[in-house]
Amino acid sequence: MCKERPFWAKKNEEKWLQLEFNINFLKQTKKEFKNLHCEYCGKKNLKVYGWCEKVDTKDVATVDHFYPKSKYDNLKKNKDNFVVSCYSCNNIKKDNLWEIVKIKYPINNNKITKIKNIRMSERNKCGCGNTKDENGYCDGSHMNIVKENTDKK
Ligand SMILES: [Zn+2]
Repeated sequence: MCKERPFWAKKNEEKWLQLEFNINFLKQTKKEFKNLHCEYCGKKNLKVYGWCEKVDTKDVATVDHFYPKSKYDNLKKNKDNFVVSCYSCNNIKKDNLWEIVKIKYPINNNKITKIKNIRMSERNKCGCGNTKDENGYCDGSHMNIVKENTDKK
């Protein structure tokens, strides 16, 4: 059994809270559906490891953020954005945004709908508060400021 918190949690509170949140999500999902499988490749019998346990990459269940958390900070704790993934699939996907059809083995029927329903405005916000376009570019005014500065030189 793991202790309540790792020693590094104090220094890196945000990283710890995200890890704890992910593990709890996986435990809850396992409880609800009895068995965990990779929603991308269908690999079965994935295992939830505690933070202190030595992870076996062959069977570890991981959380993939469908809309990558590096780009969509506001979706990093939105469970609708969570896809149960095996180690290999998560490692291939990394920070990429995939087509929804890549979720070949959704854990339940609502999964795809939920991901589709994540509002555009929520997933497409730039750090400046403006909405990004389909390609992830901000149409916000800070772009114009940069452009203006370049023009002056
Ligand atoms: Zn997989």
